[in-house]
Amino acid sequence: MARKPLIAGNWKMNLNHLEAISLVQKIAFSLPAKYFDKVDVTVIPPFTDIRSVQTLIEGDKLLLTFGAQDVSAHDSGAYTGEISGAMLAKLGCTFAVVGHSERRTLHSEDDAAVLAKTKAALKHGLTPIVCIGEGLNIREAGEHVSYNVAQLRGSLAGLSADDISKVVIAYEPVWAIGTGRVASASDAQEVCSAIREELKTLASADVAAGVRILYGGSVNAKNVGEIVGQPDVDGALVGGASLKADEFSTLSAIA
Ligand code: PEP
Repeated sequence: MARKPLIAGNWKMNLNHLEAISLVQKIAFSLPAKYFDKVDVTVIPPFTDIRSVQTLIEGDKLLLTFGAQDVSAHDSGAYTGEISGAMLAKLGCTFAVVGHSERRTLHSEDDAAVLAKTKAALKHGLTPIVCIGEGLNIREAGEHVSYNVAQLRGSLAGLSADDISKVVIAYEPVWAIGTGRVASASDAQEVCSAIREELKTLASADVAAGVRILYGGSVNAKNVGEIVGQPDVDGALVGGASLKADEFSTLSAIA
């Protein structure tokens, strides 16, 4: 089944709303419309920039989409500081990242919390980008495949095949995030193909063939081609390089 590659730029806690507008304009105007026929490109700003990005993208009918870096597991109520799926959907978000390793590590989010957020995103019509990935100790112990499969199972536990068909998975080895140490293309393929195998068990062969699996971790314009050239890698979740308009446009065009 043909899967359209997805390039997602995770801005993390960077850029104010004016810088956000400038970056989106530069990216959108440097990618000719025809690129969007073959690649989906999305930006994932901080919550505070989403409204500005929405106004620009919808107002100028840009072909980029946008999403959020997190979503609450709750619908509404006394959850100070949280942002619900309904709020994000109302702002026109297409995607919600869940389970980014920085959330798992710095905010103690476990697979159960990631599952709850995945469900909340789906409930409100957002596409969850469910992040999994091993730390360096797991990689060095050679346990990375089973570790990622276990995280995948935990993060999607009990979801229907139909729900699973709507998610994007991002394999992001923690040791490669923001370190400049990118996984080799074959390392990325090894884990992404194990993820797709497991999706057959969790859902079905048809669903597994359609789910987009991204690689994330120090992706840039130089290494993206080889990584997304792997049979089970359907795009990239990009951190640092997504803040540089030229680099992000170039790597989106290569994908
Ligand atoms: C990320 O934050 O998801 C990420 C992959 O970051 P970087 O590209 O900077 O490694």
